[in-house]
Amino acid sequence: MASALRYQIGKKAVLELLIGDITDETTDAIVNAANSSLLGGGGVDGAIHEAAGPGLLAECKAIRAQRGSLPPGQAVTTSGCDLRAKYVIHTVGPVWHGGTVNEPQILESCYSHCMEEAERKECTSVSFPSVSTGAFGYPVQDAANIALRTVVEQLLHQPVSVTLVRFVLFDQRTYKAYARTAEGLRKDFPNFEISSETVPL
Ligand code: ADP
Repeated sequence: MASALRYQIGKKAVLELLIGDITDETTDAIVNAANSSLLGGGGVDGAIHEAAGPGLLAECKAIRAQRGSLPPGQAVTTSGCDLRAKYVIHTVGPVWHGGTVNEPQILESCYSHCMEEAERKECTSVSFPSVSTGAFGYPVQDAANIALRTVVEQLLHQPVSVTLVRFVLFDQRTYKAYARTAEGLRKDFPNFEISSETVPL
C-alpha cells in the first residue's frame, strides 16, 4: 500500500514526502520543473503538459509573448487546465555545472518563488517534484537539502496560506535522498516542533 512520510512543521504546517506521479495530485497547485522556453519538454514537464492538455501550452505561450522566456530561479503560474490541481506553478531550475555558477542560490530561489506564487494565489496546499535533478543533472542529495530547508524555513518563518507541502518523488533513490534530509531537519530547526510519522495514502 502507498504511504507518505509526514512531518509536522511548527503548529500549523505539514510536509509530506511520497513516491508518485505529480500529475495525479489534488493539491491546489503543482510545481512544474520547466525550461526557460515555457514550451514544454521531457520529464515532469512533458508529463504535466500531456495530462493538462493543450490549454496549458496556450497559457504558457501567452506568458512568453508578454514577458519573454523565464530565467532560472523564477516562477510563473498558470491554471491547471485538465489537471485536478487548480494551478501549475512553472519554475526553471539551474542546469548543474559542478556548482560553479550559483546553482544552489538559483535552486533556492526556485523554491522560494514557488512558495510566493502559491501564497499569491491563496493556495493552502502545493506539490513539488525534485526540481533540476533529472535532465538538468543536479546531485539529488544536495538538491534535497536546498529544497526541504527552503520550504521549511518559509513555512516556519513567514505568514503563509500554505499549510501542506508535498514532495512527490518519482523513484526510490530520490525519495530516500529527501527522507534522509528530512530526518536532519530536526537538528537544523531545534526551536521548532518537527515530528514525523508514516501515514497510509
Ligand atoms: P529537470 O530538467 O529540472 O532536471 P526533469 O523532469 O528531468 O527536470 O526531472 C526532475 C525530477 O522529476 C526527476 O526526479 C524526475 O524523475 C522526476 N519526474 C519525472 N516525471 C515525473 C512525474 N510525472 N511526477 C513526479 N516527478 C517526475
